[in-house]
Amino acid sequence: MIRNRLNSISVKLGAVWILLFMVLLMCIGSLLYMFFIRFYTENALSEQVQRNESYAAVLNDHFDQTTMAHVLLTESRTDNLLIVVDQFNTIKGASKAVESLPDDYRSDIIYHGQNKDRHGPVINSDWKNEPYFVTEAFVEDDGKTIGRIILLYPTEPIQSAIKTLRETFVGIAILAVVCSAVLIFLISGKIVQPLLRMIRITKQISEGRHDWDLGIRGSDEIAQLANAIRRMSANLQQYKEQRRQFLADISHELRTPLTYMKGYSEVLHLGLVQEKQDRDRYLQLLYHQSVQMQRLVEDLFELAHLEQDSFKLTLKRVSLDKIIHHALELMAGPLDQKNIALSYSPSPTPLYVEGDDRRLHQVIVNLLDNALKYTPSGGEIAVSTSQDGHLAIVQITDTGVGIPHEELPRIWERLYRVDKSRSRATGGTGLGLAICHEIIQLHHGSIAVESEEDKGSQFRVGIPLSR
Ligand code: ADP
Repeated sequence: MIRNRLNSISVKLGAVWILLFMVLLMCIGSLLYMFFIRFYTENALSEQVQRNESYAAVLNDHFDQTTMAHVLLTESRTDNLLIVVDQFNTIKGASKAVESLPDDYRSDIIYHGQNKDRHGPVINSDWKNEPYFVTEAFVEDDGKTIGRIILLYPTEPIQSAIKTLRETFVGIAILAVVCSAVLIFLISGKIVQPLLRMIRITKQISEGRHDWDLGIRGSDEIAQLANAIRRMSANLQQYKEQRRQFLADISHELRTPLTYMKGYSEVLHLGLVQEKQDRDRYLQLLYHQSVQMQRLVEDLFELAHLEQDSFKLTLKRVSLDKIIHHALELMAGPLDQKNIALSYSPSPTPLYVEGDDRRLHQVIVNLLDNALKYTPSGGEIAVSTSQDGHLAIVQITDTGVGIPHEELPRIWERLYRVDKSRSRATGGTGLGLAICHEIIQLHHGSIAVESEEDKGSQFRVGIPLSR
């Protein structure tokens, strides 16, 4: 459970978010910190050096008590401490009481700074550890050092400013972590919760339950996923219903001939039929039923084979005219027997399609066979071919019984028959059109029907032309 939680998207998102935020904050913080310190210290120091040097310039001209007192008075109004020493390092005056400085520190800065070449104007710029920035300037007379001016600038303001800066950054970092935590909470509410709900619901779907409501609306990716799950569930339900219907239909289809066969064979077996003529009729009926069953089983196998994902057509460039001629040759006898007139109007330009000739032949024969079955004697069947865009079109029109308008969408379903008794009587299995539909789909073509009851039907097949 805990591992699952650690693996959840919200925790991962949160961790990445916080990490990114912290890295960004640290970079900005460090840069600001560096720039701030440099700007602050350099400014303070250069201003201090300048001030020191201007005092030195004044004292260069008059290194006497009055001028010195004047200079010291100017500095006494600031927080700084100005010390003037002579060439013997004796303190000649200070802007504030030098006793406030520890003895060691005082003598250190006075003696430390006496070598000009060693330090330049800055004796101490360590704002972190020292209480003052210390700079000095030399008072000279004819190139000879007669005194020094040492200026001490307290580092406490800079230390406290930097402390404030550091505390501000820590505050911002804490705020960032808190904001991230709130954000993660919101993200997990917006993204993870719907995902968890979808996981729960897909589990329910896999267990066969479809009475759920995802409650996710909108058009973002999560909503799209929810819609996909809704569609998947609806398809699954439809598929289950079709399968149930199909199994019911198939058992019905098999039960009827089996009942007949059982009855006839029982009668024959018990020797209840005396007349040879009657026996032959019964045997004939038995044979007819077994042929019907065989056809049904063969068609079922054929359809199952076509519906397999692994099924492959043998596609090649084939002449549509040739396929239709073969089919018409095959149907000529039965059409003649039933006294049905047949006409064929091929397209003026020869049409070549990208197809499996054996399967396309099967489709045309099937459609012609249906036209023959459902057209009464004396009727007509017209076959024509034409081109429509990238499709070759085959039209098979009959003057038969037609199909009721409301039944049209269902005729492609497996085992669906408009008139069950008529279809069975003509040897129909209710699978022919489903097989045709499947074959044409595999060719990426189209198959459609238009029909009017008692007037006739027109089947229109589109097959991609060969390039
Ligand atoms: P069957 O083997 O019963 O003919 P099909 O799948 O070939 O099965 O056709 C399904 C149903 O469509 C048929 O039972 C029939 O009612 C109807 N049908 C097909 N073709 C025609 C047609 N040319 N004229 C009238 N009805 C047709």
